[in-house]
Amino acid sequence: MIKNIDQLNIQLTSSLFIKPEYKIDAFVSGNKYRKLKYNVMDAENRGFSTVLTFGGAYSNHIAAVAKAGYVKGFKTIGVIRGEELQNSIQNNPTLQFASKMGMRFKFVSRTDYRNKTTSDFINQLKQDFGDFYLIPEGGTNELAVKGCEEILTEEDKAFDFICCPVGTGGTISGLINASGVHQKILGFPALKGDFLQKDIRKFANKSNWELITDYHFDGYAKINTELISFINAFKSQNNMPLDPIYTGKMLFGVFDLMKKGYFSKDAKILAIHTGGLQGIDGMNKLLKKKQMPLIN
Ligand SMILES: *Cc1c(COP(=O)(O)O)cnc(C)c1O
Repeated sequence: MIKNIDQLNIQLTSSLFIKPEYKIDAFVSGNKYRKLKYNVMDAENRGFSTVLTFGGAYSNHIAAVAKAGYVKGFKTIGVIRGEELQNSIQNNPTLQFASKMGMRFKFVSRTDYRNKTTSDFINQLKQDFGDFYLIPEGGTNELAVKGCEEILTEEDKAFDFICCPVGTGGTISGLINASGVHQKILGFPALKGDFLQKDIRKFANKSNWELITDYHFDGYAKINTELISFINAFKSQNNMPLDPIYTGKMLFGVFDLMKKGYFSKDAKILAIHTGGLQGIDGMNKLLKKKQMPLIN
């Protein structure tokens, strides 16, 4: 599964470089590999043969856990938000893939999903499936942050700015912990909301970071034709695909900030391509339904 996880940074312009974490694997991709690495080791060391986690219908995390289980030989269970998905797995590329990798699902209502961390709900899951190692939604916990600290190498200390997309904040926390105090970490949240600051502070050991909240495109998994055009142009110019949920929005933001003069002329910027490309097929199905242009 993993050939070479220290990929060389790719230079795009005189100041902007990309760390191509998406090349780690098509499904255990980018930051999801980093976040799972020590959790999977911990599960193994503690003798668990089953891993259970949570996610939405198109979740990169669900796809990553399913494939990691298939490759490493542990059983996987996905608790999926949305009862209505139960009968339409064949229309959902992510769930179809996860199922092929042997993942078993439990589809739950949005209300139950909101209560997924209560002991009642967890006990019910244990009755349904037996004992399991639990990884939280999005995969963020202390071990995940530790894995994300390995995204940056010693050579990356030469950069002034490190940019990444933000979902639950685990990835940016790892980057902050691995950065030098002379560096600034810019996070581009893929969703609206103010809770992230607090979540990141819980894991991060420095304050050399900032969230740039202008590029969520109205919220999680929301997308418009301007973003689609950007993603398609970026791919044809740089021969590098971007996903519509995270990396597309982050790089749209980075280029916009460059245009607006946010960075000084000689600043060196490293953007982390965190992967997520498995989500393109699912997004294209939705775009097709809405008769919008597709992602190439
Ligand atoms: C999950 C994901 C993120 C968000 O990572 P967090 O650690 O939850 O902030 C960013 N990019 C991609 C491609 C992802 O799949």
